[in-house]
Amino acid sequence: MESVATNCAVCNGSGWVPEPGSFRVRPCDCQDDLRRGLRIASSSIPARYVPHCTLAGFHERNNPSLASAKRRVARLVDEWPMAERGLLLMGPCGSGKTHLAVAALIDIITQGKPGKLLFSNFQDLIQQILASINSDQAPSRTEILEPVLTADLLVLDELGSQKPTQFVQDMLYYIINTRYNENRTTVFTTNYLDDPRDAKEESLETRIGKRLRSRLFEMTERVVVDADDYRKSVSGKWV
Ligand SMILES: [Zn+2]
Repeated sequence: MESVATNCAVCNGSGWVPEPGSFRVRPCDCQDDLRRGLRIASSSIPARYVPHCTLAGFHERNNPSLASAKRRVARLVDEWPMAERGLLLMGPCGSGKTHLAVAALIDIITQGKPGKLLFSNFQDLIQQILASINSDQAPSRTEILEPVLTADLLVLDELGSQKPTQFVQDMLYYIINTRYNENRTTVFTTNYLDDPRDAKEESLETRIGKRLRSRLFEMTERVVVDADDYRKSVSGKWV
């Protein structure tokens, strides 16, 4: 096993500690923490979600839909890497969808389960692709898309957040269809519902198109989170 240098006082940064009463050595615990940190970094989870976005750190706030969404994500983590069907976490802004999706990644990493994991914000991804078209300096579209297409488990955050131009819809279809054909698991989050309660709100199908919505039915299980924005206190002020 390759060890990584640390400031660890237990192993003096060697990564190995002697087994008491023998000449053998075993890997120091600091190596697990280090590997976990490296894996979280390579999965592109934004720093603001680390380390508190775990399933244990998710508050159900006495809300049955949050409790049931948490159980469903826990099942995906339990079944990983055998889980094939992804999840479509739908609900209003601030309801905790992204926390749950990130928790799936962090908990899988913490449990030392295998797989290439990746977090991607849909809006940022589209911006990166658009920037690549207008610049020779930026990474090419192929370079940007490669990790998104090949991750064993991808969290695609804020599906439908971009204005649904033809370009955005084509990009999204390419990503989702490639992952579908290669049997890769995807967890989506979206603020858009299938049947919005308010007639003024758009449905997810309006945002991403009929063809994509029906593909999502095949590759994910729908998990609807019905909760208020946790960042608003009772007084209505942002906290
Ligand atoms: Zn150590």
